[in-house]
Amino acid sequence: MKSDTENCAHSRGLQVVSGSEFRCQDCEQRLDVGGLERWVWAAEKARDEAYSVVEGDEFSEIVIDQRQREVYRRRRMMYELRNVPRMVAARPEMILVSYDFTEDAYECRIFYKEPRPAWELERVNVKAAFNTILELRSHPDPNVRLASGKIEEFHVLRRRLVKQDALPPSRRVFYQNEL
Ligand SMILES: [Zn+2]
Repeated sequence: MKSDTENCAHSRGLQVVSGSEFRCQDCEQRLDVGGLERWVWAAEKARDEAYSVVEGDEFSEIVIDQRQREVYRRRRMMYELRNVPRMVAARPEMILVSYDFTEDAYECRIFYKEPRPAWELERVNVKAAFNTILELRSHPDPNVRLASGKIEEFHVLRRRLVKQDALPPSRRVFYQNEL
């Protein structure tokens, strides 16, 4: 059945029509390689927009989660259609550090450009204290070690602002160019 092209999520997947053309079984939209990339890019843009919302309430966390999953889904589909081999060592594309007031701890989420390899951690929780943050520096996962530096950076900033009687931010996103 032909459905609305604009609103179709191509949820049943795309089929290869010819070498570099793909077709949705539901809406019959055809995409070339560039169209496929733009389709992935649109999901990335939607996710980044969700991040720019400063107030991180429970609802916006759900929205971010959904949009991140959509990015992964589209990328996975793109890589499969284009037969791109999975990377062995994934580099994070983004790290989100949020401060949990009730626990006095940081929650750190690591996002990967590739679908995350099974052995990579996606979430790290650590008490908001120097010694516990520094312990992460000797973690076996190199990306957790990388994240520990970012948690430390955010912790230093928050402490400085608290000392100055300023309101410290509750979350900070580190993009790939800062990692
Ligand atoms: Zn479709």
